[in-house]
Amino acid sequence: MSFKVQGWCPGALRPMASGDGLVVRVRPPSGRLTERQASGIAEVAQRYGNGVIELSGRANVQIRGVTPETHAPLISTLRKHDLIDADVAAETRRNIIVTPFADARTYRLAEALQRALGDAPELPGKFGFILDCGAAPVMTDVQADIRFERAADGTLLLRAAGCDLGAPVTEAAAAEAALALAQWFLEAGGVTEGRGRMAQLIATSARPEGQLAPAIAPAPAQSQPLPGIVKQGALVAFAFGQIDADTLGALAALGPLRVTPWRMILTEGLTWMPNLPGLISDPTDPLLRAHACTGAPACLQAHGPTRDLARSLASHLPEGKTLHVSGCSKGCAWPLPADLTLVATPAGLSVIRDGRASDTPETAVISPSEPRHISEFF
Ligand code: SF4
Repeated sequence: MSFKVQGWCPGALRPMASGDGLVVRVRPPSGRLTERQASGIAEVAQRYGNGVIELSGRANVQIRGVTPETHAPLISTLRKHDLIDADVAAETRRNIIVTPFADARTYRLAEALQRALGDAPELPGKFGFILDCGAAPVMTDVQADIRFERAADGTLLLRAAGCDLGAPVTEAAAAEAALALAQWFLEAGGVTEGRGRMAQLIATSARPEGQLAPAIAPAPAQSQPLPGIVKQGALVAFAFGQIDADTLGALAALGPLRVTPWRMILTEGLTWMPNLPGLISDPTDPLLRAHACTGAPACLQAHGPTRDLARSLASHLPEGKTLHVSGCSKGCAWPLPADLTLVATPAGLSVIRDGRASDTPETAVISPSEPRHISEFF
């Protein structure tokens, strides 16, 4: 393993030190930002950070380049926008991702779950919930421990990660049922030395019983959406999830925003595609199939830069192929396999085909200083 495991998730109150300053991770409540909240984030990113904002794979908004001196005024401003939890424990616990295609019922459930989590027992730092309750699940590739989905007939299901089936629940009982499932996870031995995931516990053949017993299959999953107009508004993407503060401010002026785990933002109610700098609105843009983490110098763990290389290779990426350039084998930008993964190492770029950044690479390492063409790899 060539990277450091933090063992905790950075947040806004507990930011992470990086090569370009502190990274402040904001969790928009229910995945939504009002116009005022979004423009507030854009403003503090300019004033107290370096103007660079990132969308994370867990539907969070990260403000980069914050300093120890500017952190306190940044938090104070974001608190006025109702974007900061009472303390680190509450911030850590509120690990909920909500589908951007949510309806009023799903938002009610998200708020009920958020309230219920205030009384939740202590869970591992990365333990999370997903509310993927549209007509069909769209976030099956996004990791979580407890999921809400719908069956083909619309029945609301509570599903433990690792189980194929879910337990039917009513909307009124759903939040408490999720907490009961989290409690079962703890009592069934899901945590060792403060760490543990639901899927690991389920893999041991442990199963919840009674009302939480899995019984019904969720509706067949849909693939990750592409930029375009959807029922809820306009969905736009950003290369590598990076968005500058001015663009976020301009987007905020168009309507309330929903943050997705796909490094895309949905502007509610917009019926036309906005044309702003750095925004991807073409669903065939090959940059949508290219992933790259922050890399060097902004990440202290990186063995080399990533995004310029990913951008130049992506422009010739064969149709349907995916590319991942990672600054180390942690693979923060893309936890799934890619057709081609290049990982920066102290010796050069290692090559992994059809695998993840953490997989064993091919033996030959390539020099990052030589110009490369994507055709070398396919
Ligand atoms: S994958 Fe990239 S962002 Fe994550 S720790 Fe490694 S270099 Fe840093």
